[in-house]
Amino acid sequence: MTNIQPLTDTQGRVVRDLRISVTDRCNLRCVYCMPAEGMAWLPKDDLLTYEEIARFARVCLDLGVTGIRLTGGEPTVRADLPVLVRMLNALKPGLDLSITTNGLKLVAMAEDLRDAGLKRVNVSLDTLDPKRFHQIARRDRFHEVIAGLEAARRVGFAPIKVNAVLMRGFNEDEALPLARWGRDQGYEVRFIEWMPLDFQHTWSREKLVPAAEILAQIAAEFPLEPTRGTDPSAPATLYSYQDGRGRVGVIASVTRPFCGHCDRIRLTADGQIRTCLFSLKEYDFRNAMRGGASDGEIAALLHAAVWRKEPGHLINSPFFKQPERGMSAIGG
Ligand code: SAM
Repeated sequence: MTNIQPLTDTQGRVVRDLRISVTDRCNLRCVYCMPAEGMAWLPKDDLLTYEEIARFARVCLDLGVTGIRLTGGEPTVRADLPVLVRMLNALKPGLDLSITTNGLKLVAMAEDLRDAGLKRVNVSLDTLDPKRFHQIARRDRFHEVIAGLEAARRVGFAPIKVNAVLMRGFNEDEALPLARWGRDQGYEVRFIEWMPLDFQHTWSREKLVPAAEILAQIAAEFPLEPTRGTDPSAPATLYSYQDGRGRVGVIASVTRPFCGHCDRIRLTADGQIRTCLFSLKEYDFRNAMRGGASDGEIAALLHAAVWRKEPGHLINSPFFKQPERGMSAIGG
């Protein structure tokens, strides 16, 4: 490859983090993400093969990417995920390789994923109440998530982070219970503000629970202080419990955007690069790879795409337009 310069944009940001969606399919139907029925999945032939994903990842690693996160959809529903993990892990010793999952398949897969070289696991869980879980996820599978978390811990993943989305009318009162549970269990809970990326377009500002409110609820019982020395490009703002019993985070994409430090790009399961969750433009690397592009040509296309990375999302502007793809088809 000729141009192995880091992937830099017009704002001086450098891409270090590649999110790879391995499938748009999911085994839950969370109300803030998908409709109950009628999702149209990507045709199988459109999905990048594991070889194509690994090739693309290798080019990215040559261009300075240091971390890869597998996501979806639900990444564990794609067949033989540990095979991909092994392929990616072989690309670079010590690669920061992680997954975001709903945890349902971790009982069966945690050990294989660890053995294949996965380093870190984030599990999504929005409530501690099994009935509410059923309402939110539209599947009665709460206990499988808890068992999946335990399996991840048993095989040695640490730290384990838990992502929660709070919505008014569903689980807005769960900031404190989830934080307390995270402290007790040793999980780092991070609350994600609901973003306008749902397929049904039901998002509204009134229904999201802002980070400030979440932190106030938690701090009323467990005093918090900002965690020092955290990575500014990480989406979560972290707070340490003053009694030293762990940390809690907020990903305040709507009320406190952190685009100025964003170092991420996303590869969709069908091989499109998105330089922002809210991009209205995608760059087609599937056709480039299948059309015979060399590594150098892939790198040149990537440089050109990243150069045009959006300075920031427009959620808080009157010009905001929700992208056509929902979160599960982008890779959250
Ligand atoms: N299926 C996996 C999971 O559940 O973690 C990975 C994909 S999921 C899209 C990744 C994360 O995005 C989950 O924590 C989920 O709760 C969150 N999420 C989905 N839709 C969202 C939205 N519109 N706003 C904020 N977070 C969202």
